[in-house]
Amino acid sequence: MEDCLFCKIIAGEIPSNKVYEDELCYAFYDIAPQAPTHFLVVPKKHISGVSEICEENAAVVAHIFSVISKVTKELGLASYRVVSNCGEDAGQTVFHLHFHVLGGARLADGMC
Ligand code: 5GP
Ligand code: ZN
Repeated sequence: MEDCLFCKIIAGEIPSNKVYEDELCYAFYDIAPQAPTHFLVVPKKHISGVSEICEENAAVVAHIFSVISKVTKELGLASYRVVSNCGEDAGQTVFHLHFHVLGGARLADGMC
C-alpha cells in the first residue's frame, strides 16, 4: 500500500535490520527498542491492524505466531511478550498489522 511505512520496509525501499523473512511475513528489529530484544513481525500483504483480521486473511496470523515460536527459539529467548496495539488509543502508530516481540530481560508486570 502506498504511503505505508511497513509496506516500504517490506519492499526494501526503507532499510531495516532483518530477523526473518518468508513468502508471507517479514520480521525486523524495532528502531526504538523497548527491551533488549525487540522485533516486529508483519504480514507482507497489507492489513491495517487486528481489527481488519477476518476469516479470509486469518491464516497469516497463525503463520506469524509459528514464526515467532521458531525465531525466538533461534534467538535463545525462553521468555518473551507478544503485543499488537490496535487503534490510536491503544498506541498504534503504524497502521500495518504488526506483532511486537519483546524479551531478553524481566519485563514489567501488568498489561497497561
Ligand atoms: P506501534 O506503535 O504501531 O504499536 O508500533 C510501531 C513500531 O514501529 C514502534 O515500536 C516504532 O519504534 C517502530 N518503528 C517506527 N518506524 C520505524 C522504522 O522506520 N523502522 C523500524 N525498524 N521500526 C520503526
Ligand atoms: Zn502496509
